[in-house]
Amino acid sequence: MSRTYIVIAEHRDGKLRQVALEALRAAADSACEGDTLQAVLIGGPDDGLDGLAAELAAYPLAKVHVLAGEALDRYNPEAYVQALAPLLETLQPDGLFLGHTAIGRDLAPALAARMGAGQLSDVTAIEREGDRVVYVRPIYAGKAFERKAFRSYPWVVTVRPNNIPAAAPSAGGAAAEIVRHAAEPAGMLRTVVRDVVRKATGSIDLTEARIVVSGGRGVKSAEGFGPLEELAALLGGAVGASRGACDAGYCGYDRQIGQTGKVVTPELYIACGISGAIQHVAGMSGSRIIVAINKDPEAPIFQLADYGIVGDLFEIVPLLTAEFRRALA
Ligand code: FAD
Repeated sequence: MSRTYIVIAEHRDGKLRQVALEALRAAADSACEGDTLQAVLIGGPDDGLDGLAAELAAYPLAKVHVLAGEALDRYNPEAYVQALAPLLETLQPDGLFLGHTAIGRDLAPALAARMGAGQLSDVTAIEREGDRVVYVRPIYAGKAFERKAFRSYPWVVTVRPNNIPAAAPSAGGAAAEIVRHAAEPAGMLRTVVRDVVRKATGSIDLTEARIVVSGGRGVKSAEGFGPLEELAALLGGAVGASRGACDAGYCGYDRQIGQTGKVVTPELYIACGISGAIQHVAGMSGSRIIVAINKDPEAPIFQLADYGIVGDLFEIVPLLTAEFRRALA
């Protein structure tokens, strides 16, 4: 029996989010020969969905569905669920894939409930055991992994950013069919998002950044983040922080990484003046390479780090920046 897997392709500021392509890859890795992959783009009339649909159509998908409506220009769970529900009712997917982002985490359980589906969240890897698809997800704040399989269809999966490789465009330039749907929410909305006020935290999303330069209490002040920001900007990375730094008022909580902050899995994580408390480690232990800079050689972060530099971050970070600048030039 052939199955249909659907990806809700998240986008922001007129661009597909990287995690949308990772979710597509997760769907493809879950599919067997003969199964159908489709994608859904949802948003407002000014979100450039047609351009994004054309971009997505280059990937191995049978169809790209576009749901554009006035009430969908800002994420509103009620409006999105009401707009998506009739389409999903028609398409009857066996599996639905979303990014494990703020929106994906909010939307997935609501859609799963509508679909009568089981849900697995925060999947970091997919394994096959014959026909069975096994999803791997971290538990206990990243200290262990569990492997889970669904017993029945349909299912809903959210994919942690930066863990599953992104899908590649179709070989030979085959293009998916683009289907446009009228998408006003069916019912009355109890809430309306009037405005979204963004904090200026740089253009790179922490959870999707390939490089994160993070500062802790050792940074000592808001100004102390200056050298970290310079290094991050040079490397095209984002700046994160420990809760210690956030609590001390050196930066906003939107930068906090850890158990009660964001989970990041970059290629390179540079921890500056961070002791390595277990609650911080919960948010960054999945990073591919960890570099720790700390003046205390006994700091627990060194037990986790691939490379440890014992010394004063205010000397070492500018040296690193200068070396990287030279190397990149
Ligand atoms: P500290 O532990 O004070 O470490 C500062 C480090 O900087 C020290 O190792 C010191 O040697 C080094 N240092 C100082 N000066 C320099 C210098 N000039 N150069 C180099 N190194 C220097 N924490 C999080 O980060 N994220 C979370 O999500 C989180 N959630 C929590 C949830 C709960 C329920 C609780 C109880 C705690 C949570 N915490 C979290 C807090 C966590 O326990 C730690 O208190 C916090 O991570 C410590 O931050 P820090 O490493 O920046 O500060």
